[in-house]
Amino acid sequence: MKIFCVGRNYAAHAKELGNKIPDEPVIFMKGANALLPNNGTLTYPDFTQQLHYEGELVVKISRRGKLIAAEDAGDYYAEMTVGLDFTARDIQSKLKEKGLPWEKAKAFDGSAAVGDWHPKQKDMTAIDFSLSRNGEMVQDGHTEHMLFPVDTIIAHISRYFTLDVGDLVFTGTPPGVGACRKGDRLEGFLGGEKVLDIRIAE
Ligand code: ZN
Repeated sequence: MKIFCVGRNYAAHAKELGNKIPDEPVIFMKGANALLPNNGTLTYPDFTQQLHYEGELVVKISRRGKLIAAEDAGDYYAEMTVGLDFTARDIQSKLKEKGLPWEKAKAFDGSAAVGDWHPKQKDMTAIDFSLSRNGEMVQDGHTEHMLFPVDTIIAHISRYFTLDVGDLVFTGTPPGVGACRKGDRLEGFLGGEKVLDIRIAE
């Protein structure tokens, strides 16, 4: 199982981190070690002082494919949910400054939380999702604001990587990312429905 993530897929989020708007999808990967199932707990990693949540729409690949056209991409995933792309922001900033890879900041154990799966919608550019921290909404996303829509992302990834059944695609975070503290509860919503519930361990 592979986990693909898209960086800077919402202009307003790229801006909040001082990044340029990309001219093609920014793709990075996490390993199976990163997967944190729903209702799980992430122990605050000891190597960071700045663990950030990034709530994202996630889709699951349902059919093996390579060189998929964007028009056909809808045939390659059937389910979606909300996930968390946990990020050690202090580590990431240092690595970015030096032009080094991000894995230590992005792909650590438990860094990819995934909620309960729901059937995808016909129009994947019209999906509302949100994230709350300790009961307060911190991210309110809508897929119409994606720079690269889900089908374009899948087409792009498949030019480089064969997609397999069960692979996950985190489609990027809307604005509102921020710090987690020990004891936090993070809940993700698809439309109005709660699909994700994750705790940060004391
Ligand atoms: Zn992200």
